[in-house]
Amino acid sequence: MDESNLLPCSEKLSFDTQKQAATAATVAQHQHGTKLKVYKCKHCNLWHLASNYEDN
Ligand SMILES: [Zn+2]
Repeated sequence: MDESNLLPCSEKLSFDTQKQAATAATVAQHQHGTKLKVYKCKHCNLWHLASNYEDN
């Protein structure tokens, strides 16, 4: 059986560190006025950004 690499978050931006994600969130906030939160993903163990409206 093939082990699928397709994670629920495969289409999200991912970051190796919390700091990288936080930096990207700050940039997005400046550029788009979007407030993003940083969270560690339980699926891939990397960091993603989520809008406040998403329930992640
Ligand atoms: Zn993930």
